[in-house]
Amino acid sequence: MAAPITAVIVGGGLGGLTAARCLQRAGARVKLFEALPSWEDRLMRDRGLGMWREAQRVLAYIGLRRRFEEIALKIPPASYRSKEGTWLLQAQRDETGEKVLSCRQSDLLTLLRDDSLHPSLPPLEISFGKRVISCEGQGEAGYEVDPKMQIEFSDGTMTEGDFVVGADGVSSLVRQATAPGTRRGFLYYTGFRSFGGIIEDMEGAGEEPYETVSDENRFAVIPLRYKAGGSGGKSIEGKRKALFWFATLRDDAADGFLGPGRAMQEWGPPTDAPVLESLHSTFGSFHDPIPKILEETERRQLPLLMDHHMQDKRVLFNIGRVAFVGDAAHAFPPNLAQAGSVAIEDAWELSVALTPYLRGLIPRIPAKTRLETKFKKKIREPTSITNLVDIYGTRRTQRVTGHHTVTDAVAQLTGLSDSLRSGILSVTPLSWKQQLFDYFLQKSFGGPKCRVSIPPEGMQAVRIAAEEEEEAKRQIQAQGVRPHRPS
Ligand SMILES: Cc1cc2nc3c(=O)[nH]c(=O)nc-3n(C[C@H](O)[C@H](O)[C@H](O)COP(=O)(O)OP(=O)(O)OC[C@H]3O[C@@H](n4cnc5c(N)ncnc54)[C@H](O)[C@@H]3O)c2cc1C
Repeated sequence: MAAPITAVIVGGGLGGLTAARCLQRAGARVKLFEALPSWEDRLMRDRGLGMWREAQRVLAYIGLRRRFEEIALKIPPASYRSKEGTWLLQAQRDETGEKVLSCRQSDLLTLLRDDSLHPSLPPLEISFGKRVISCEGQGEAGYEVDPKMQIEFSDGTMTEGDFVVGADGVSSLVRQATAPGTRRGFLYYTGFRSFGGIIEDMEGAGEEPYETVSDENRFAVIPLRYKAGGSGGKSIEGKRKALFWFATLRDDAADGFLGPGRAMQEWGPPTDAPVLESLHSTFGSFHDPIPKILEETERRQLPLLMDHHMQDKRVLFNIGRVAFVGDAAHAFPPNLAQAGSVAIEDAWELSVALTPYLRGLIPRIPAKTRLETKFKKKIREPTSITNLVDIYGTRRTQRVTGHHTVTDAVAQLTGLSDSLRSGILSVTPLSWKQQLFDYFLQKSFGGPKCRVSIPPEGMQAVRIAAEEEEEAKRQIQAQGVRPHRPS
């Protein structure tokens, strides 16, 4: 049997945790390191997410379909409204077959982390309070210079692995460490930032997701499955009173780029008076229930999540033996609310590309010296981690570039002045608008090229994953304990 290959995953968000489970399934030993001090800290940074079809497919492939449906709410894909509440564009519901499942990020992370829901996998080795500051030995395309990669943490400790997955978000230190001096050129601050939060129980919240646009300002509402007792409580079918909202405004202090050290994602204090004041003054005249959402947030002193909208001028999926997934590979502004779904796709595709190597089904070339491989830089045979990671990078670059085109187009439309936008929309027949919008969604998320790969073992593996999931659920219910791993 081939010796296990160790993957070091940096970052315990959606990208990192999905990569951990996918790579474990593919046969890797996984060590995950998260900079935040605890799991509770990670869950606290909560937001609502709309999960698109391909991400749902990946969750099914790794045995989480039923559990995911229990925490999620089925919603139409995307719609735009004017400040007065008129529907400007609505994705067709049933004809495209594109349904989105909304959920709290914290719930999805919990499903991914919970060992009892992955009974055929070893318990996840996850360490908190471990901020990676450097990665060395990644090599370059075509050759691997050292037998192992060395990863250093801010507390002075080190670890090593056969390859590294940079899943450390928009301000990726792994990316800076492996491509020094280039990061600033890649990552562009669009000049917009958003504030948002979750309201667990609100009358009159509505059942439709939408984004209301007025000049450059936008207010998005994503309904979430209502839970008795709020976050962490039991989901209740059919009641739609919980929601995630986020309001996007231009940042007056924006200088185009975020310098190192400036926070890109942070929590504001519960009653950040100047922020709330500016939100009230910008969105207070928007249609119902937007003013009420802001009032409820203020009255209940709910925490505000702040995000700077980052965009990559160039996506980056791989450097030598380092693969990037999620926001570390491609920062999108949340124009069609899809970057998290794409992070899940990335993680899956990385594991599919590496599966034959991890399982020892193809010959593994030993680490080579620069001299030995000097003239073979371009070889694409899947015999080294570097080359497989490179194949992953090429595939994902094609896919994600399509996303960029669509999100940019949406950003252009929503960024127009009210008069220009309504001028364009009023002279365009409704059926054309619908068709165009559906075309965009289809191009971005629905077409055959957008499909994630089927599991390397075929659909049989998916059936086994579903059975495992059922078994885990039965055992938890019967005994309240984690089932033993099958040998
Ligand atoms: C307002 C808003 C709404 C959105 N809505 C949607 C939506 O509806 N649907 C959707 O699909 N997506 C949505 N997204 C995007 C989605 O939230 C992100 O794309 C996704 O969470 C990114 O996951 P990630 O794992 O790549 O990064 P992150 O979630 O940022 O995780 C990175 C992790 O790495 C850790 N870390 C950072 N540096 C280090 C280090 N040096 N060492 C160790 N650990 C480190 C961090 O602490 C963090 O836990 C939205 C985004 C925004 C801003």
